[in-house]
Amino acid sequence: MDTAFILEAARAVNQAILAHEADIESLDREIGDGDHFINIKRGCATILEMQGELASLPADAALQKIGMKMLSTIGGASGPLIGSFFIAMAKSVKEHGGDQLPRIAAAFTAGVDAIRLRGKADVGEKTMLDVLIPVAQTFTRLTAENAAQRDILATLQIVAEQGMLSTRDMIATKGRAAFLGERAIGHIDPGARTSQLVIHTLCDLAASRT
Ligand code: ADP
Ligand code: MG
Repeated sequence: MDTAFILEAARAVNQAILAHEADIESLDREIGDGDHFINIKRGCATILEMQGELASLPADAALQKIGMKMLSTIGGASGPLIGSFFIAMAKSVKEHGGDQLPRIAAAFTAGVDAIRLRGKADVGEKTMLDVLIPVAQTFTRLTAENAAQRDILATLQIVAEQGMLSTRDMIATKGRAAFLGERAIGHIDPGARTSQLVIHTLCDLAASRT
């Protein structure tokens, strides 16, 4: 994972988010407060605006810079969560490297752990973590088992989708959807949907590069 890949990923994620505006908006109207799409779109646009200054940086410095910027530009609950994801990834890449799949899995897991700590949430609370935690665990396990990259990427897409769908029948205990109680049942969490979309896009991109 180099900075060129990070920037290419940002462009691909931006396109995927924009292409699913109606879908994300409708989920967030049902159980959110209607700002999730705008928050994520702003995050993507901000990274794209930073491309010039990021391009010459090593991956860890680029991730750190993105994280700091996310903290100050994305509003709501998701800004600090996404910011801390990038900052924790940056630290892991700086300390352990980010070139091989096990290192990327470790950095991703560090990022997800930062969200878990910051959000004080875990699997089963109807949030983005219902996608991100199983993806991180599967990524770590499959790289440790030396699975083929193609299989890892395809499996992560399936796990992300299952995680997203699992939020449908949950009651939210974190975030704004928690105020809805049982009325949130039957609706997929918008943060889980955008997380699944990001994982799907990143895996497609990584697969196209091998
Ligand atoms: P806000 O909650 O401030 O309106 P967003 O609408 O951008 O921010 O993000 C909402 C998403 O954030 C939710 O769909 C959920 O996935 C995620 N989320 C909310 N609270 C938490 C939390 N404590 N930990 C992890 N994720 C959370
Ligand atoms: Mg919201």
